[in-house]
This record gives sequence, C-alpha cells and structure tokens, in this order.
Amino acid sequence: MLEGTILACATAPGVSARGVLRLSGPAAIPSLRSLAVNPVVLDGCPGFGSVALALELDGARLDAWVTVYRAPRSYTREDVVEVHLPSSLPLMGMLARALVIRDGVRWAGPGEFTLRAFRNGRIDLAQAEAVAQVISATEEAELRAARRGLSGELGAVVRAVADRLTGTLALMEACIDFADEDIPEFSGGRLSGEVGEIVAAVDRLKRSTSLRLAGEGSFHCVLAGLPNAGKSSLLNALLGRREALVSELAGTTRDPVRGTTREGALSVTWVDLAGGYPRPGERLVSGLDGRMNPETRAAVERLTSLELEHADGVLWLVDAAGEYPESLEAFESFEAAVKLLVFNKVDLLDAPARASLAGRYPAALLTSALDGTGLDELRAAVGKCTAAASRQGSLAGEPARFLVSSHQEAALQLSREALDRALDVLDSGAGLELAAADLRDALRSLEDLIGEVTPDDVLDRVFAGFCVGK
Ligand code: GDP
Repeated sequence: MLEGTILACATAPGVSARGVLRLSGPAAIPSLRSLAVNPVVLDGCPGFGSVALALELDGARLDAWVTVYRAPRSYTREDVVEVHLPSSLPLMGMLARALVIRDGVRWAGPGEFTLRAFRNGRIDLAQAEAVAQVISATEEAELRAARRGLSGELGAVVRAVADRLTGTLALMEACIDFADEDIPEFSGGRLSGEVGEIVAAVDRLKRSTSLRLAGEGSFHCVLAGLPNAGKSSLLNALLGRREALVSELAGTTRDPVRGTTREGALSVTWVDLAGGYPRPGERLVSGLDGRMNPETRAAVERLTSLELEHADGVLWLVDAAGEYPESLEAFESFEAAVKLLVFNKVDLLDAPARASLAGRYPAALLTSALDGTGLDELRAAVGKCTAAASRQGSLAGEPARFLVSSHQEAALQLSREALDRALDVLDSGAGLELAAADLRDALRSLEDLIGEVTPDDVLDRVFAGFCVGK
C-alpha cells in the first residue's frame, strides 16, 4: 500500500542521545505544522533544510530539531520530515500518536520507505534489498559487499545480462516469425550459442554473489520447527534484542530474519525461518498460515529450502509443553550436516517433567527463550559445531563480491533453471515457442531481481533491433 503519509521511528530502541521519527507523504509537513507553536519556520524550508521547531504536546512544550526534504529531493521522492528528539520512547510515542491521529498519517509497514523509493523510481530493486543488508551488516567485509549492491553495481550487472537475454528473445521471436524463410541469421545453432553465453554470464554472476559472508567464515545456523515453537523468541534471546518487533507490525515480512553473534573464534549467523518445515516424504512443506496465497506460499517455501540448503547447522525447535510426535517425526526426516533437537519452553514444565524429558532425549537441549534457561548450553553446543566446521575448512571461501538476499539468490537460481530448460528444448529441436517461454521465465526472474525489465522491452527490441520492415 503506497497511499497516505507514513510514520516510523527511524532509530533503534535503546539508550542514546537522540531519537528520530520519520514521516513521508503529502501530510508529512502539514501534520507537523498543526502541532507547532512556530509553524512559519517550516515554510522557510523550500527544498531542503533544518529548523528548530517548538511543538505543543499534551499542553507541554517540546523542542525538536526538524529536517525537511521536499519532494522530489528526498529518499522516497515524497515530502519527508525527520523529527529529532531526545531519545525517550514514551516521548517519541506521544508525538507519534499525536501525528497518527491527524490527516491520514499512519504507521509505516516494514520497509515501506524503501518500497516508496523503489516505486517512485529512485532506486532499483537490488538497491532496495541492499539497503536492508547495509543496515544489518555486522562486519566490514559484509558492509563492503552490501554497499556495492547499494551503489547500483549489482543492478547494473544483472541489467546487462537481462539486456542480452532480451536481445536473444527478440532474435528467437524473429526466428518464429520468419520460420518459413531461410534466413541464416535466424538459425537454431546461433540461438543455442547465444543462450549458452547467457548461461555462462548467469553462472559468473552467481559465483560473484553470496547469501553469506564468506572468507572470514560465518557459521549459518537455521532455527526451524513448527509454528509457535518459539523460534523468533529464541532468536531474540540469542541476539539480545527485539528483532521480531518488525513482524508484529503488519505481518507482511515473510523473509527469514537473521542476526549474527560471536561464539568463540567464529561468528554465527542465526536465521529464523518464516515457518516452513520439512515433513516426512516431502522435501519441504510449510506450516505457514493457511490464509497465505499460493504464490506467496511457494515463494516462502523456496526461500526456506534455500536457507536450509545453505545452513551449516539446523536447530529444530519443539514446544516442550505441547504435543510433539509430528514435530519429532519431521526432525528425524530431514537431512542436515549438523542438526540439534531443542525442547523450548521448559519453563512451563515442573522439575520432574524436565528430568523425564532429559532422560528420554539425552542428546536434546532444553531451553527457555523466556527465562534464558539452557541458552549458554545451546551456544556452547553450536560453538562446538563451529569449531569442527572451522577445522574441516568448510566455512572458508573467497569473499563474495555482492551480498544477496535469499530472494535475490532464488531469482538467480530460477533464471538459471529456466535457461537450462531453454537449452534442452533447443537441443531437442522441440520448437522455438517452448524455448521462448523458458527464456521469458528466465528474464522474468532477473526482472524480479532488479524490478525493471518489462515485456515491453522485448517488443521494443523486436521492432528497433531488427528493422525487418514488415
Ligand atoms: P515461532 O512461531 O516459532 O517463531 O514462535 P514465537 O517465538 O512467535 O513464540 C510463540 C509463542 O510462544 C509466543 O507467545 C511466545 O511468547 C511463546 N514462547 C516462546 N518461547 C517461549 C518460552 O521459552 N517459554 C514460554 N513460556 N513461552 C514461550
């Protein structure tokens, strides 16, 4: 939803000198103006500027430092206002509530400022994803890789491959149109060669990207299990911060949530999956809520399986106070280099029940995300696995040029698979229409990554690139 004016707290909760509330949209300036004792100072900022604004809030005066970015010279290309206040959550909450009840101002959804920047053409999709990566980078190498994405470099490389693919598709469409005329330029052999070169380009691109920080060696530990086992709570407890606050907002974030901590000599990246879990006999089925549409569900399952494939270890969480035969069956059924069974919520069990659980499952870990029971043991167990992986050298590797999200990784993978299908079709001589459909799929996946190429581009190339004079 891109309508209205949105508001969010732009600074992280916690102790600091200043906190910033950010607004974007047509009511950003008027809503603040309506609370100001000295509103005229806002009018003195025609394009971009900062002013000291006195606000009246619940009958008391509040001095704020306000930066105004008028459209289109702002991050979102809309009117944006940043209100700098003393970093007091109650104070910021009071001002936010006073603004939210005014003139159609509403709370922003996750990533909505960046979504607006993308929709309003300020950044491409790869840059939008890099924004999140830059924000969550915990190591310098990670930051460098993410900033390359932010600078548009990744988008430019993908765009070059997509352009080439668009050209090949145009060539193929021309071959289809002129199938009856013997034009050597439009031969099947040339098409296979073109597609083969695009496959090589996508492979180069894939080699230069990584879901994870390579080189330094970060151990990827995925938290999986049935919904409600306490995965987000455990992630928060391990990271010591309220990461999952994000998911309380609109419930739209289905991407895995991750965070990195240092465990002994190595960093561990903990990943909380959106809820997918493998069931016996199936590689992966999601336990996600039934209201999700099939496309979103398929996308989440794809991301989930990618995360599991890339995992160095899987922590399988089971609700210790619930019924768990199905969950234990699922734990037994999937394969992972390292998998640990974790009974969470043991705070809900009395001492004899805990002892009985420990007796029945001696290899399992017993934790409570709520009161911190067993977290040190869990860190130690994962630390042992990281040490083993580090000895085997399985975490070493070339630092990636670009850091990508699981959505971007999946898009590249899908594009590569569609190109393979196109090559198979061309080799078997099964008809150019089929191969063209596969190329379109490949293009759509790249388009998904950068959010730019449209089917119109294909048409434009057909007409402009070939000048067939028809
Ligand atoms: P997820 O769906 O696996 O991510 O589960 P959540 O982390 O969202 O937790 C589901 C519910 O269980 C929430 O109401 C949590 O507060 C609660 N919960 C999570 N961990 C614990 C725990 O260790 N003890 C207790 N008593 N409740 C917990």
